[in-house]
Amino acid sequence: MNYRHAYHAGNFADVVKHVILARIIDYLKRKEQAFRVVDTHAGIGLYDLNSVEAGKTGEWMGGIGRLLAARRDGRISADAFDLLAPYFEAIAAVNEGETVTSYPGSPMLVRKLLRKQDRLSALELHPQDAAMLAKRFAGDFQVRVIELDGWLALGAHLPPKEKRGLVLVDPPFEVEGEFDRLVEGLAKAHKRFSGGTYALWYPVKDRRETERFARKLRETGIAKILQIELAIRAPSPEPRLDGTGMIVVNPPFTLESEMKILLPCLKDLLAEDNGANFSLRWIRSETDRS
Ligand code: SAM
Repeated sequence: MNYRHAYHAGNFADVVKHVILARIIDYLKRKEQAFRVVDTHAGIGLYDLNSVEAGKTGEWMGGIGRLLAARRDGRISADAFDLLAPYFEAIAAVNEGETVTSYPGSPMLVRKLLRKQDRLSALELHPQDAAMLAKRFAGDFQVRVIELDGWLALGAHLPPKEKRGLVLVDPPFEVEGEFDRLVEGLAKAHKRFSGGTYALWYPVKDRRETERFARKLRETGIAKILQIELAIRAPSPEPRLDGTGMIVVNPPFTLESEMKILLPCLKDLLAEDNGANFSLRWIRSETDRS
């Protein structure tokens, strides 16, 4: 386990992933009934943008740095601005005043958006990271931090007793076979908790691989699979993180139209060259039975 998210926190992929996450949570809050978020690969929860690790890559400057600059300069359209409000709200909640020096990882972002009836289970396998995360949420009865293989949560921890909620699966993709594990994990989890919303993150590096992933997802027969991708540059000759993808199963009915507003805005803000693009498509829609 060599992957350390501190080098990448707040980069373009985090921005897109966390904006989607915040939109899903915002929707779940429309009903009074409690929900649970299960975050299978949680990380350490909070990242210092002035840390040595963040400084080494400077990735956050091409991600959250650009969004904050656009917000300051009034370059975000009013409709996108409204949809970004919960995301910005979570960032504000971990910073004092206007200056942003801390960036919330997925469990912290979720936590900042929960109501008092809602719960979070955050799993992290790296012992040091799990300990940091546990310390971060010590005494918080709404959050359970578990040092465990997140893939196991897709079996044992579902369905949640709230019977409503979101499962975020955000693996580091440092070993072979993560795309297949995502498909198998989803199939297993969906059998136990078919009404849940699932958000599966994946890197866009190799088109053949992402197409194969989409085919495999379709073959599960699971309905309502929405695919969201954003590439910040034209495909690189060598494998490189050119884009970010999210599969959302059972998305809120509002998500597709929201992403039609957000994706063009995020593309313009995050683009590194004029090969930047986005796509939004149903791998399987509600009515598609083929
Ligand atoms: N979800 C986080 C966020 O958005 O802020 C980032 C997570 S990072 C991409 C992946 C994390 O998964 C790392 O912290 C890594 O230590 C952890 N990890 C790797 N393998 C794991 C496993 N099998 N189960 C749980 N966590 C794992």
